[in-house]
Amino acid sequence: MESLIYLLKNSSIKKRLWIIMSTLAALIFIGGAIGINVITVANSSLETSYKESYKPVKIISRIIFLMNDSWGHMTFCLQQSLKNDYLKTQNNKKLLSAHIASIVDNIDESNSLLNKYNERNLTKEEQNKTDLFSDTHIQYINEGLIPAIDAIESKDFQAANTIFVSKINPYFKIATLQASDLLQVINQIQKDEYQEATKYFTLIRNSLILLTVLGILISFTAAILLIRSIVLPLNKAVAHFKQIAEGNMDENILAPSKDEIGQVLSGLAAMQEKLRIIIAELDQLASTDKLTGAWNRRRFEDTVEFEIDRLRRYGQRLSLMILDIDHFKKINDLYGHSIGDRVLIDLSSAILSTLRATDSLTRWGGEEFIILCPNTTAETVLKLAERVREKISSVKFEEVGSITLSFGVAECDPNETKEEWLQRADKALYLAKSAGRDQIKTTQSLPKALPKETNNASDSP
Ligand code: GH3
Ligand code: MG
Ligand code: MG
Repeated sequence: MESLIYLLKNSSIKKRLWIIMSTLAALIFIGGAIGINVITVANSSLETSYKESYKPVKIISRIIFLMNDSWGHMTFCLQQSLKNDYLKTQNNKKLLSAHIASIVDNIDESNSLLNKYNERNLTKEEQNKTDLFSDTHIQYINEGLIPAIDAIESKDFQAANTIFVSKINPYFKIATLQASDLLQVINQIQKDEYQEATKYFTLIRNSLILLTVLGILISFTAAILLIRSIVLPLNKAVAHFKQIAEGNMDENILAPSKDEIGQVLSGLAAMQEKLRIIIAELDQLASTDKLTGAWNRRRFEDTVEFEIDRLRRYGQRLSLMILDIDHFKKINDLYGHSIGDRVLIDLSSAILSTLRATDSLTRWGGEEFIILCPNTTAETVLKLAERVREKISSVKFEEVGSITLSFGVAECDPNETKEEWLQRADKALYLAKSAGRDQIKTTQSLPKALPKETNNASDSP
């Protein structure tokens, strides 16, 4: 059963439909074949039993009829022959012989009928009754009819009459009663056989009803299984499609089966994964500077809003430094724009290697960068800026050699706007430039009420 369920689960919907439909067709075929066969058998057995039951009644009735007929012929013979002058005419003699011949014919027929009757399979009771009837029948013939015929033929009508009264009449009466007894037994047998046939028919009817109910139940179960195996995963797939359409790519899409819907689900899972990667790439593209790989302004704006919010809500310190290459115009002029680009790229990676994991580098514009330092005071950023300055002044840029940077440092005040904060940093940078470049300046009047940064942010990158 389990392997059948496994087979159904893992085969295609097309295969599943074929299996279920073929099973149903086979069931209907088997049910129909059994029904037709059983009905045919029952019908023929009933027909046979009817024919069989009809036969003995016919035979016994015929024998009684023949006995009765012989009795009639005998009565006629005796009535006429007792008249003294009856046998004097030739015609009457012929008539008498004809009656006797009829009796002889009747004896022959009834004997052969009784033999035929005895050839049948008889029940014990039927056999007993038949034996009794046969005995009386034989007595009726051997002690009655035959001696009476002999007497008539020897014209001893007196003796024939005595035999008629003492043997033929009583044996006939007894035989009639015994025949009636026998017929009753036959009747009972027929009744039993009828009841047996009825029982058989009831059994067939009940079996057919049971088969039909079973067929309906199996069809119903198969239909439910089929619907469940198709509709449930389809609904799941639809729900996943909706989630993806709404932009939710985090759903774990499982494809439990290998059928068509399973293939749709695994295709959907693959598509979601691909979409996730594309979105991440797009996100990266939309948030980073193409040339240097540093954050662009958009990413900076998003992050800085969030960090200012943390500063205002939880008092988490927030500082930045703005840095600008000194005399970059000259580099472009001397070595060309592409060498200038190279310097910007190499500078970015050199700065990134000195930064801590929580700090971020943004290309603010041209040859100007911002390093945002969450959870950091201005004092720490001054140190960080010094570290960057020293590092860059020691780097040899391709063709260009050494370059210098100027820095403006500012810590965000929770009461000022982002623009005011940036303007203060810009002002500090201007001061650094004015003071001769390659140095760090701050316009910072540090807010006294603010708590210290929560971790030691001054050190290692
Ligand atoms: P200062 O020390 O006062 O900052 O002098 P500076 O020459 O660096 O400043 P200025 O503003 O006069 O010149 C900046 C130059 O940077 C001008 C511009 O051509 C160059 N620049 C801006 N963006 C790029 C870029 O993407 N690639 C290259 N190669 N040059 C750029
Ligand atoms: Mg410059
Ligand atoms: Mg500049």
